[in-house]
Amino acid sequence: MGANQPPLSEGVLESTQKVVHEALERLGYGEGYFELLKEPLRLLTVRIPVRMDDGQVKVFTGYRAQHTDAVGPTKGGIRFHPSVTAEEVSALSLWMTLKCGIFDLPYGGGKGGIICDPRTMSLGEVERLARGYVRAISQIVGPNKDIPAPDVYTNAQIMAWMLDEYSRIREYDSPGFITGKPLVLGGSQGREKATSFGVAISIREAAKLQGLNIQGLKVCIQGFGNVGSHLAEILDQWGATIVGISDVHGGIFDEKGLDVPYLLDRRDSFGSVTNLFSKRLSNAEFLMQPCDVLVPAALENQITNENVGDIRAKMIVEAANGPTSLEASEKLHERGVLVVPDVLANAGGVTVSYFEWVQNNQGYYWTEEEVNRKLEDKMVEAVHKVLNMAKSRSITPRLAAYMVGVQKYAEASRLRGWV
Ligand code: GLU
Repeated sequence: MGANQPPLSEGVLESTQKVVHEALERLGYGEGYFELLKEPLRLLTVRIPVRMDDGQVKVFTGYRAQHTDAVGPTKGGIRFHPSVTAEEVSALSLWMTLKCGIFDLPYGGGKGGIICDPRTMSLGEVERLARGYVRAISQIVGPNKDIPAPDVYTNAQIMAWMLDEYSRIREYDSPGFITGKPLVLGGSQGREKATSFGVAISIREAAKLQGLNIQGLKVCIQGFGNVGSHLAEILDQWGATIVGISDVHGGIFDEKGLDVPYLLDRRDSFGSVTNLFSKRLSNAEFLMQPCDVLVPAALENQITNENVGDIRAKMIVEAANGPTSLEASEKLHERGVLVVPDVLANAGGVTVSYFEWVQNNQGYYWTEEEVNRKLEDKMVEAVHKVLNMAKSRSITPRLAAYMVGVQKYAEASRLRGWV
């Protein structure tokens, strides 16, 4: 994924809006609601000067989008990636609203991003960039305004620097400002694996609803970053067979199953491991391997009109945000392939972020078992609610998820007199 690639997010906002429009219409909310909810209420662009290790100053561009604060503060991650655009961050903030709606979290969606490639930067440069970004957005964020978290190529260490910078600005420690922090700084047990645990539960429950058992289920995972690697570990422990894994260098596939502990042991901090193998599939070849479940856990627009005909998986569970284009996911639905949408499948992360924020606010911390139990209850309920609704109304799971997700915000906006 080099800096010269076209934005992966092309068209994502428009196709998201299309589904939001249909969801609102089916729920009986008129055009005014769509006008209000189709874009973030706020989108801030910032320019961040950073002193690089060679002594030169480089100016980075970043964004923070706040989709809606109709039910509470906004919430969502910050990504560091060369293909970040304002459009992508806007779409991602809208998706965060839908996730918070489906899981009934007291937030609206937010999202941030910085155009950069942390893989080519030193730790010191990444730290200065992270701190500069917090200074640039500090006026519009805070524990009761907008609460950031990790996303693509950001992690607990970056959250720690951001928390430190924010606390210095406010002149008191403010752990509820950001989630996905290290444990000693007020992070939550279970947060690091939460997205993956939620995806694993989605796979298990969706399989169950189709009469399939998690044991022996053949799973291909595209992406071996935080989400993909923990997912492989959990599914392997649950008895599923991980037949394929891919990363930025390519994919490896073995229908008898891969040695997951070995791969986990050898991956680097950006999730690269397949470079250890001489025989690798291209990303395009990887996606067409036969399996029960294909889990795109990398970036947007991986399954599109161009390659949807080659997909041989029986089920797709979207661990990444927006990996299947709208047209492709509708084609898969027509072919009887179940697509469990991102806003449902990957919301375990933000759900445990919510638990982290609650623990910060009350100053009393839960055990990992408690966090996982609470997450599991919420995931099981949401997956059954959305998939059963899709079935009973003969609509796509995506549309059902959007209907469940957007309703609270339409209603809250009406009650506040915004529409
Ligand atoms: N970045 C994650 C997401 O897209 C987590 C957001 C959060 O924890 O606030 O859902």
